[in-house]
Amino acid sequence: MRLVILGGGESGVGTALLGKEKGYDVFVSDKGIIKEKYKQVLIHNEIEWEDEMHTEAKILNADIIMKSPGIPDKVALVKQIREKGITVVSEIEFASKFTDATIVGITGSNGKTTTATLTHHILKQELNVGLAGNIGDSFAKQILDKDYENYVLEISSFQLDDIIDFKPKIAVITNITPDHLDRYDYKFENYIHSKFKIAMNQTKADYLIYDADDEVITSHLKNNPVQSTLLPFSLVKKIENGAYLDNNNIKITINNNQIIMPTSNLTLEGKHNVKNAMAASTVAHLLKIRKQTIRESLENFQGVEHRLEQVLKINKVQYINDSKATNVNATYYALESMDAPTVWIVGGVDKGNNYEELFPFINEKVKAIICLGVDNEKLMNTFGNMVDVIIETQFMSEAVKIAYKLADAGDNVLLSPACASFDLFENYEDRGRQFKNAVRNL
Ligand code: ADP
Repeated sequence: MRLVILGGGESGVGTALLGKEKGYDVFVSDKGIIKEKYKQVLIHNEIEWEDEMHTEAKILNADIIMKSPGIPDKVALVKQIREKGITVVSEIEFASKFTDATIVGITGSNGKTTTATLTHHILKQELNVGLAGNIGDSFAKQILDKDYENYVLEISSFQLDDIIDFKPKIAVITNITPDHLDRYDYKFENYIHSKFKIAMNQTKADYLIYDADDEVITSHLKNNPVQSTLLPFSLVKKIENGAYLDNNNIKITINNNQIIMPTSNLTLEGKHNVKNAMAASTVAHLLKIRKQTIRESLENFQGVEHRLEQVLKINKVQYINDSKATNVNATYYALESMDAPTVWIVGGVDKGNNYEELFPFINEKVKAIICLGVDNEKLMNTFGNMVDVIIETQFMSEAVKIAYKLADAGDNVLLSPACASFDLFENYEDRGRQFKNAVRNL
């Protein structure tokens, strides 16, 4: 069987290694430059590859193609492949054929990494479990190297687009808000459909955990019922089978077996993190992790870098790095969770943002705004009349120094950009690190 892999990144190279081990004739092709570390792996394992080009004849001769999630369907070569009827799969589809592990698949527009990392943190106390997908080493590579008995997978919509048989035992949809619409013909419905593919092969013996307060999810489910056993979670209504908030206690009930946890014990701040904790704990409860272990794990989870990360307190001002907030919805939850007057650093590449949902928080919590990025003008126009101080800059170090001057004891300084980072930074990690360095240099 000839396996062609389009894209020589983490998932591509992982798939190449697994494919080779399983007896495929493997060829990796990347239109861009393959990173040196991956080239070395391919060479060392005698896997054929090319970069900065696609040799069409070779690619179109494949029996099966693994397409990396970053490659859009509208690329001419992908169209040709599909027209020829060659099977195209994503890495999780390909890799999952080679493991019998119990799979927890976590998708959603926001909260995937936090929920997946937290779920893994709880499960690993009692189970042999790997964390993969969009995080760390590829799923394929972990199957090859470690073959865990359980996996928690963070799964993007792009990975779900090319599944055929992939079926997680437990699926989680954290929430669905418009994102990446350029890859979905600008139709929100297509993107929603893609997210729900996580449950498409599930049966009654499998579980779908989802946010019952998210109307996009609930109305889609109503019109497109799934086979899965449903375990919703909610902050506002009582849930018989699933999780809900009852007077600051999370209550999770599965088949009459209930676990109760006070939210005051959660290390993570913000309502969105109560939801993430509900989702993760429901998974753990389903997998029969002891109640005490679940409680303790929630109490000692340290969070994930760049997600409402507490950086430093200087002169009683708390500096918070939420660089991963690359869309308005993520920033919504960040601002909502602010419990003190906040100097807000926002901006970057605007993705057609509508900031309206943030307005109540601006009045209530934001004392000054610092705009940082190529699309400052829109921010200045949108928020100019709502705060006393709004300043723009193109430098992180300057933004942090201005924030330092504006903040008084007891305030927060929050970097939560609501925008993409590639105007001034390499990626959101780079943006977050520059913020933290600037804070440490104060
Ligand atoms: P993802 O992996 O889906 O991008 P992350 O866990 O990395 O999600 O969080 C991304 C951003 O979204 C962070 O800024 C975080 O504060 C915010 N966020 C986290 N969980 C949620 C949630 N359940 N709903 C909305 N926003 C969230």
